[in-house]
Amino acid sequence: MDLRDRPEDEAFRTDVRAWMADHVVGEFAALGGRGGSGDETFGFEVRLEWEQVLAAAGWIGIGWSVEHGGRGASIAQQVIFNEEYVRAKAPGRASILGEGLLGPTIIQFGTPEQQARFLPPILAGGELWCQGYSEPNAGSDLANVATKAELDGDEWVVTGQKVWTSGAHQADWCFVVCRTEPGSFRHKGLSYLLVPMDQPGVEVRPITQLTRTSEFNEVFFDGARTARDNVVGDVGDGWSVALATLAFERGVGLLGHQLSFRRELDRLVEVARENGASSNPVIRQRLARSYAELEILRYNTLRSLSGFDAPVAPPEASIIKLFWATWHQQLGELAMAIRGVSSTVTEGFPYELDEFQRTFLFSRSETIYGGSNEIQKNIIGERVLGLPPEPKGTSR
Ligand SMILES: Cc1cc2nc3c(=O)[nH]c(=O)nc-3n(C[C@H](O)[C@H](O)[C@H](O)COP(=O)(O)OP(=O)(O)OC[C@H]3O[C@@H](n4cnc5c(N)ncnc54)[C@H](O)[C@@H]3O)c2cc1C
Repeated sequence: MDLRDRPEDEAFRTDVRAWMADHVVGEFAALGGRGGSGDETFGFEVRLEWEQVLAAAGWIGIGWSVEHGGRGASIAQQVIFNEEYVRAKAPGRASILGEGLLGPTIIQFGTPEQQARFLPPILAGGELWCQGYSEPNAGSDLANVATKAELDGDEWVVTGQKVWTSGAHQADWCFVVCRTEPGSFRHKGLSYLLVPMDQPGVEVRPITQLTRTSEFNEVFFDGARTARDNVVGDVGDGWSVALATLAFERGVGLLGHQLSFRRELDRLVEVARENGASSNPVIRQRLARSYAELEILRYNTLRSLSGFDAPVAPPEASIIKLFWATWHQQLGELAMAIRGVSSTVTEGFPYELDEFQRTFLFSRSETIYGGSNEIQKNIIGERVLGLPPEPKGTSR
């Protein structure tokens, strides 16, 4: 695998870098790249404006085919775009669920009418989406979904509760996995519905996180309605659509992610130098190890992405997820060790976290969302090592 840019990719990199230099200015530059995980409320209105700037230049959905309004950018170019995005400290994206998850799902499974209705507003940075999968009794065990939908004339009526729904308080639409065949069991009888959020039957209750922000929410559907045609894929076949969406969750965005990890690590090394922690041999070892592991992560991700024009598939996706989530959590712990007791004090009132405090606290969730570490280990154990499958529940 040759990791250098090919000539056409070099030109693409130059274009992206120049565009970022011209546009990450003024109030966008003032955000300093903030607005990421654990920091979602920061500068939200400005970040919404930024979505319009990206959209106007055709930088949303660059990996989508030209036929569907994207640029048909290669994996290498998507990686370059993400790298340059992070390098330029462009604003944290207001929401990537439409672009990264729902859009590709509709391209793969949607009807032409659904594609015409839902793709353009995503590319225009105009409609925000949230993901209605998890429920109080259906997290790791997603097939246990109990939220139900019944047809009433030309509309589905949705009743049930979702939880941990990121961005539901800002979203215009939710893609909801629900049970449309009464009495069906596990992954059978589920459907993938698109439900508008702004209606009386939808109530969103924010959940306050350790970071004191409320990225995610409980969402109660109580007779919420959506048009009969707003089912992606066949009625009763929502499980395969839902899994396809999950596969899109892991892809080229990961490399941009890693560049921001690298920036965090670089800053942490600076802090260690400044406060003298760098002369502590244990801290030095932990920093060196962190650096080496980040390099491993980068090359492994590149290796997984190279040669594919599709999302990273399991089991590679599970290995990468397990590795990056654990790495970042350990970085947060290392940051606290380097900062010493000062890491336990916040500067602002009542709870203004600095970058490393945010990383330390938010990264606790990274080994949970997108499939917990234990679930990734189960996948690796069963699919890579060929260990006996874990016993499935037999009570029903
Ligand atoms: C920051 C954040 C954002 C999220 N955003 C969304 C979102 O937008 N939309 C959405 O639908 N969901 C979202 N989630 C939910 C996330 O997908 C679930 O939290 C995750 O799937 C785990 O489910 P759970 O919380 O119900 O835990 P459970 O599934 O109840 O698991 C509890 C514990 O048991 C372990 N465990 C469970 N099953 C097994 C097993 N078979 N073997 C070994 N150990 C097991 C788990 O690893 C975990 O430690 C988000 C979560 C977080 C933290």
